[in-house]
Amino acid sequence: MSIPKGRPSWDEYFLILAKLAAIRSTCIARQVGAVIVKDRQVLATGYNGPPSGLAHCTDQGYCYPDLLDCEQSDTKPSRAIHAEANAIAQAARHGIPTENASIYVTLEPCLSCLKLIISAGISQVYYETNFRKTNNQPLRDDFITQGLVTLKQISLSSESAAMAASVFLVAIPSSDV
Ligand SMILES: [Zn+2]
Ligand SMILES: [Zn+2]
Repeated sequence: MSIPKGRPSWDEYFLILAKLAAIRSTCIARQVGAVIVKDRQVLATGYNGPPSGLAHCTDQGYCYPDLLDCEQSDTKPSRAIHAEANAIAQAARHGIPTENASIYVTLEPCLSCLKLIISAGISQVYYETNFRKTNNQPLRDDFITQGLVTLKQISLSSESAAMAASVFLVAIPSSDV
């Protein structure tokens, strides 16, 4: 069998997996997914959501009680454990070393997650969407300059996105429904 045209690259493949993880998120404001990878092997996955025992944003219908529009929650601290933190916690729970691994995230890591990523020994970050610019930028840039971590923005080619969509949007014959 020949290789299909537009076969996703490894970076695209892991970004697609991170996007898959994101669909499990229960946050209304933003669904984020993360995948920790080493030697082209998936070590752990994560998505953002509230700590165990707290109501999911999707269940209560909002992220914050006093905000109807979750977009406004951009100015509030996230009530969720972020996707990267959940992926690192999952690796820790299962005793999986993350030294020199890479992490693929659908959204650029916030400063807290970036610090956690560095301390977990993860040396490369690949992200799709830029996070809003904050005054954390100089500190983030300092981490990069000091060689603690690398950050690279990546995206899916339209061919790879179409291929992923075609896998998901498999037509179900109406007689089977
Ligand atoms: Zn939320
Ligand atoms: Zn974060």
